Amino acid sequence: FADTAALQSLDAAHHVHSFADPKALAQKGARIITQGKGCYVWDNEGNRLLDGMAGLWCVAVGYGRQELSDIAARQMTELAYYNNHFGTSTPQMIELAEKIARLTPDGLDHILFANSGSEANDTIVRLVRRYWMLQGKPTRQTFIGRDLGYHGSTLCAVSLGGMSHMHGMAPEMLPGFAHIMHPHHYLLGDGLTREEFGLKAARALEEKILELGPDNVAAFIGEPLQGAGGVIDPPSTYWPEIQRICRRYDILLVADEVICGFGRTGEWFGSQLYGIQPDLMPMAKGLSSGYLPIAAVAVGAKVFDVLNEGGLLAHGFTYSGHPVACAVASANIDIIANEGLVDRVREDVGPYFHQSLRQLADSHPLVGEVRGVGLVAALHLVRDRAPKTFFAPEQQAAIHCRETLWDNGLIARAVGQAIVLSPPLVITRAEIDEMVDKLKAGLDATAAAFVI
Ligand code: PLP
Repeated sequence: FADTAALQSLDAAHHVHSFADPKALAQKGARIITQGKGCYVWDNEGNRLLDGMAGLWCVAVGYGRQELSDIAARQMTELAYYNNHFGTSTPQMIELAEKIARLTPDGLDHILFANSGSEANDTIVRLVRRYWMLQGKPTRQTFIGRDLGYHGSTLCAVSLGGMSHMHGMAPEMLPGFAHIMHPHHYLLGDGLTREEFGLKAARALEEKILELGPDNVAAFIGEPLQGAGGVIDPPSTYWPEIQRICRRYDILLVADEVICGFGRTGEWFGSQLYGIQPDLMPMAKGLSSGYLPIAAVAVGAKVFDVLNEGGLLAHGFTYSGHPVACAVASANIDIIANEGLVDRVREDVGPYFHQSLRQLADSHPLVGEVRGVGLVAALHLVRDRAPKTFFAPEQQAAIHCRETLWDNGLIARAVGQAIVLSPPLVITRAEIDEMVDKLKAGLDATAAAFVI
């Protein structure tokens, strides 16, 4: 590749970045990543970085899997493209749909393909509204999501989500979307036990349904564990109560599995971990480990039967069920299954990861809480643990920490006041040890910078 400065200069001139602060980017220049193997990526200067985020929570099977590139190459030669419009299929679409249906919770047997999590969620808004129209209840239009929920960047997905900085960008919230509180015990628990708080947070749904009028509500959407909102792992009382409320008012339940799906929580799907029985389940990321863009929506019989009776579904994308992406996703699922990665997360590396992070946190004054499950975690940074005192947002302590970690060879993410980690499912105990050593150094440097 060209030298880094030349690439950075072209990048600055022509490439519009996602979710990057333009001032910081202009100062430092883009980080140019050129290679990946296992849990590591390399930048253009040859620096090796432990990828504690698996890209964007997606590279489940790790980088550089020869079998996936071989399958992509073979499929491109055999049939590079075909679509699923007007009654066509390819063997790759059919095989993948069947494979996903076998893994999803009971009854979610009908698979619709899309190309990104955002598209999958956008699709769900259309499917659900059509479902209610066909049921003779066209007023059931409103979706209820959660503060700090993330469901993507298209107009519908932004509106489903509860990221205020995204709503405020244009401003661009669509009508027909409402939000309730998130179940973040550490931020909002206020003297309640986790279980008490879980019930309180779930009952906000009932209040919102009554405020809007049940006949106007189409569905509730939530990530089993909220990822981009800061790894908000719900109290055990939360999802059963949400489910009870959805049933009581006949509200459809959508579990967004884009991050949780394909093993990250130690189950194939987060819904299985938390005992959720969704009517619809969008998934992406781990579906192909990010090797190619592909997403899917698993649709339960209740919704599918009505849609199917309703005739032609006027919906779909040129690349829905792209044969190369389907072939790669199918092989990716085989790797996850054959290498026992889900069990490994649940029984071995997941518990080791959390135990190691907790040990680090116990001895570090900068960490107020470690939360998460399986191979997803957040370390919430605080000025003081007791009484709990947060940094002022403008201090950007988590961003400072993230930059220090990057400079020291560990990729992590800063979300609000937390450092978030979501490594590939193939991470070893030795790599977790390396991650924790680097975290300790990064936390020490941040503590020193903020004179703690
Ligand atoms: N849903 C969740 C839970 C996500 O975390 C994301 C992306 O991070 C999305 C949806 C959107 O997916 P995509 O970026 O593929 O559009």
